[in-house]
Amino acid sequence: MGPQNNPYQSQKAVIQKIIPETSGIKTFVVQPESGFSFHCGQFAELSVPGIGEAPFAMSSPCFKSEQLEFTIQNVGYMTSRLHAMKEGDIVGIRGPYGNGFPLDDFYGKEVLLLIGGVGFPPARTLIYSLLNEKNKFKRIILCYGARTPEDVVYKYQVEDFRKKIELYMTVDKADKNWRESEGVVTVLLDKVKVDLKNSAAVVIGPPIMMKFGTFKLLEVGYQPKDIYLSMERKMYCGIGQCRHCMIDHYFICKDGPVFTYEQLKNFPNIWE
Ligand SMILES: Cc1cc2nc3c(=O)[nH]c(=O)nc-3n(C[C@H](O)[C@H](O)[C@H](O)COP(=O)(O)OP(=O)(O)OC[C@H]3O[C@@H](n4cnc5c(N)ncnc54)[C@H](O)[C@@H]3O)c2cc1C
Repeated sequence: MGPQNNPYQSQKAVIQKIIPETSGIKTFVVQPESGFSFHCGQFAELSVPGIGEAPFAMSSPCFKSEQLEFTIQNVGYMTSRLHAMKEGDIVGIRGPYGNGFPLDDFYGKEVLLLIGGVGFPPARTLIYSLLNEKNKFKRIILCYGARTPEDVVYKYQVEDFRKKIELYMTVDKADKNWRESEGVVTVLLDKVKVDLKNSAAVVIGPPIMMKFGTFKLLEVGYQPKDIYLSMERKMYCGIGQCRHCMIDHYFICKDGPVFTYEQLKNFPNIWE
């Protein structure tokens, strides 16, 4: 097999800019050597030479293939090496992988995004796509929760988003300058009145938040088929070979990462 047929072959990408988001999260603006087209909700495998690779969702608009953004939390071996990199350094990128969000399913509907913490990167790409065809959706509602005001990502974009979509924010623990809600992200659902017959909800965030977010949406009256989950699992190959990311017969990397709750609801341990 020549290198051009090697599915693990990555292309080079230059880190053009690094934007600090919080004490443990940075956004990396990278320019792939040969461009990189993707659909919102898909992900890429990023590699640090000599260290390894890991999956990350693109957080930039999917109609901008020459420059991509990734918002990455420093949690371990690979991400700490990424966080130590500087502008001008080179990373590897391969992909895109996964199915992405089914925008057609959302046409004509109210789209409610229930987002927690570092679940925001794929949600931001989705918001750009929804805004790109804004007149095709009845409403775009973002409910975003972070642990503290310091943990809010994309602070510099909040006011711009507020002008374009309905935005509700909360933090688990407020400080004296916080003017939004306090409490876990599901408290925001008490503030939003949706037309349940014509609404789709998207849930992205840490597993515990996704679990209770989904349960709250069911309690509010959403049908499992109208709840879309962007799932995360420990994942290596990204192409359905290593089987690390499987939930029952589904590969998160190939069949997902976006699933309806209807597809997953009967499997055990989906929130791990
Ligand atoms: C489809 C997909 C999209 C993702 N998008 C993003 C993103 O946009 N931004 C971002 O910051 N992270 C994202 N992640 C998670 C990211 O891949 C992991 O944080 C990364 O692999 C950790 O690598 P590490 O070597 O630094 O951590 P390790 O040293 O391997 O592990 C450190 C800790 O993180 C946990 N961990 C490792 N991988 C995952 C994972 N996939 N999910 C949950 N916990 C994990 C480990 O169990 C361990 O506790 C995504 C994961 C998937 C599957």
